[in-house]
Amino acid sequence: MLHIYNTATKQKEPFKPHNPELVTMYNCGLTVYDRPHIGNLRAYTMADVARRSLNFLGYKVKQVQNFTDVGHLTFTDEQKLKLDKNIEITDSETGIDRMEKAAKKTGKTVWEVAQYYIDEAMIDFADMNFIEPEVRPRATNPDEMAEQIALIKILLKKGYAYITTSAIYFDTSKSENYGRLTGQKLDEKIIGAREDVERDPTKKNPFDFRLWQLDQKDHAMQWDFEYEGQRLRGFPGWHVECSAMIHRHLGEPIDIHTGGVDHISVHHTNEIAQSEAAYGAPFVNYWMHNEFISVDGRKMGKSLGNAYNLSEIKEKRFDAMDLRYFYLTANFRTSQNFTWEALEGAKSARKRLLSIVVSLQSAIDNHTLTTNPSRAEPRDLEGLQTLIQYQDFKSRVEDSFNMPEALAIVWQTLDSELSDEIKLGLISEFDKILGLKLLEKVEEKEISQDLKDQIQELIKQRVEAKIEKNYALSDQLREKAKELGFELEDTKEGETTYKFVK
Ligand SMILES: [Zn+2]
Repeated sequence: MLHIYNTATKQKEPFKPHNPELVTMYNCGLTVYDRPHIGNLRAYTMADVARRSLNFLGYKVKQVQNFTDVGHLTFTDEQKLKLDKNIEITDSETGIDRMEKAAKKTGKTVWEVAQYYIDEAMIDFADMNFIEPEVRPRATNPDEMAEQIALIKILLKKGYAYITTSAIYFDTSKSENYGRLTGQKLDEKIIGAREDVERDPTKKNPFDFRLWQLDQKDHAMQWDFEYEGQRLRGFPGWHVECSAMIHRHLGEPIDIHTGGVDHISVHHTNEIAQSEAAYGAPFVNYWMHNEFISVDGRKMGKSLGNAYNLSEIKEKRFDAMDLRYFYLTANFRTSQNFTWEALEGAKSARKRLLSIVVSLQSAIDNHTLTTNPSRAEPRDLEGLQTLIQYQDFKSRVEDSFNMPEALAIVWQTLDSELSDEIKLGLISEFDKILGLKLLEKVEEKEISQDLKDQIQELIKQRVEAKIEKNYALSDQLREKAKELGFELEDTKEGETTYKFVK
């Protein structure tokens, strides 16, 4: 049975979906002012592994992952460093809107910046082999915006929100058990660690957070908002969009909500408060959080120049699958240290896996070529599921998606005494979760029956050439096979077999 480590209870709990017919999952998405960096990609790899695992275990899943395409005021990296060192940030340091900043820097409009980085992110996500979520809402989509405005109005009507001269705030003093996700009583000292910049004298309570920011002259993205005759043009606070999208696309409670650990104390805490206040139902049953990535043992940050993105990784001749393999070698709940050496290690391990898979397939092909020209028996899933290796792999997955141990089972399977066919069948099943495209080379080859026919024809001609002692022709045919990507081998028994080399 699947167990998931739940941040809300700080323990692994048996997974009981709210609706067994359809598991619901929401992942806090990317703010699109830049390409996703290795920290973002780790978070979405965790979400993808969870989603693939649920499918593997037989669940249908509806997954929603948003794009935050409206700018919000956040602390800069320098300000965050100050916070880490307990240096006070003054009220005059208001933080920045990264989307507006990116627009100014590139000479594009904020809308163009958003579209540009959404397109880039979609390429990276496809490269990382993420299964595309069922819904990918954008915060500025008119329907999503209407839902956010509706949510804020419910909170105003129910008395959970109040309007000041600068914003509409959520009143945390009205919220039951506010901050329970952090597992500790919030005190004023950790206000400084909050990500949003909300040092506003018009707030009633220190933890009150902005649901709607009123008119800001330099903010390009704004929407009309009328409430009881008041015109409150402005734009939503960041937390609002996730609650509104979950309500619109999934409904409460959802089964699984994922995000980085940095979201626990503010973003997710506020999502819970506003959703439960507005909709009067429990919000999320299982909270999954991924830990941070460090780089060379140091903090990762854009201003530190080590928040690498996928194109920087590819420039160094790595594949997106090397990065995916690297992520799988650490538990998502622990921090992971990125170094180029570690990525090199992941690359060679993945290459080794690939070459084993390819040689397994070649051996199977040779076997069928020399003994039986028809294809081997299809591998049946029910048979595989009874094997101890399959059971072991599944139990690691069910242990809150323990990927490092699942990977170890993959290697043990390849080292085992099982037949080539069964090994390949198991790897093909395991890769449904690993998502490393291990069978891609094999599949490419399988598609091309034509190529196979050509090779068999070459072997036939070569056998005839050898009988006629025409060694020049025999060598030519061997070269021809090489050009097609195959190595011909003569066995002791006088048969010719082939191996896929490209
Ligand atoms: Zn969120």
